[in-house]
Amino acid sequence: MTDLMEYTKNGSIEIIVGPMYAGKSEELIRRINRAKIAGLKVIAVKPEIDKRYSVSNIISHNGKRTECNPVKKVVEIESIVENEEFDILAIDEVQFMDKSLIDICIKVADSGKRVICSGLDMDFRGEPFSTVPNLMAIAEHVTKLTAVCMVCKMPATRTQRIVNGKPAKYTEPIILVGATESYEARCRRCHKVPK
Ligand code: ADP
Ligand code: MG
Ligand code: ZN
Repeated sequence: MTDLMEYTKNGSIEIIVGPMYAGKSEELIRRINRAKIAGLKVIAVKPEIDKRYSVSNIISHNGKRTECNPVKKVVEIESIVENEEFDILAIDEVQFMDKSLIDICIKVADSGKRVICSGLDMDFRGEPFSTVPNLMAIAEHVTKLTAVCMVCKMPATRTQRIVNGKPAKYTEPIILVGATESYEARCRRCHKVPK
């Protein structure tokens, strides 16, 4: 089904969602690579906030990578798509972008091009993450991936935030700067968010 989208000439929006470690970036890279094999020009972007491994690459946790444009603000994506020739716009970590991204995705898709987004559908609390639910609603095709729960090994749909060895409380901010935090994929049962 997913790969059939490649033959759509009407313009479309795809979104790949799931918790951390679900393989979202891996799947995005796979789709980008297939498009390149087909001779299509891909513009790949990601927010500069994500500096975990590299600023100028989309990188998966198992080391797959593809070059991208790091952007600080959504307007930078707008200027890239207005000034460059391309067939496909691919965006990783869409949960870190503000709602103006939606209009850009719609504009690009309406012009007959393919948009592929990837990002977290839920924050560490297990609640819808910023504009991702809206993108899921307007997308032609949604791929929801699961990781492996690090507690019970069942499919994981959520991201557990751990601060100083304990589950992060509900009241902690969505983005914590400078804390000793880590993240784990967990299922509904094992995901803990103390109030
Ligand atoms: P995402 O972008 O969704 O965070 P990535 O594409 O970067 O995920 O990484 C996916 C890879 O992470 C998997 O192919 C696997 O090698 C690795 N991995 C590490 N921990 C887990 C886990 N708990 N469940 C599944 N894959 C995991
Ligand atoms: Mg990723
Ligand atoms: Zn579990």
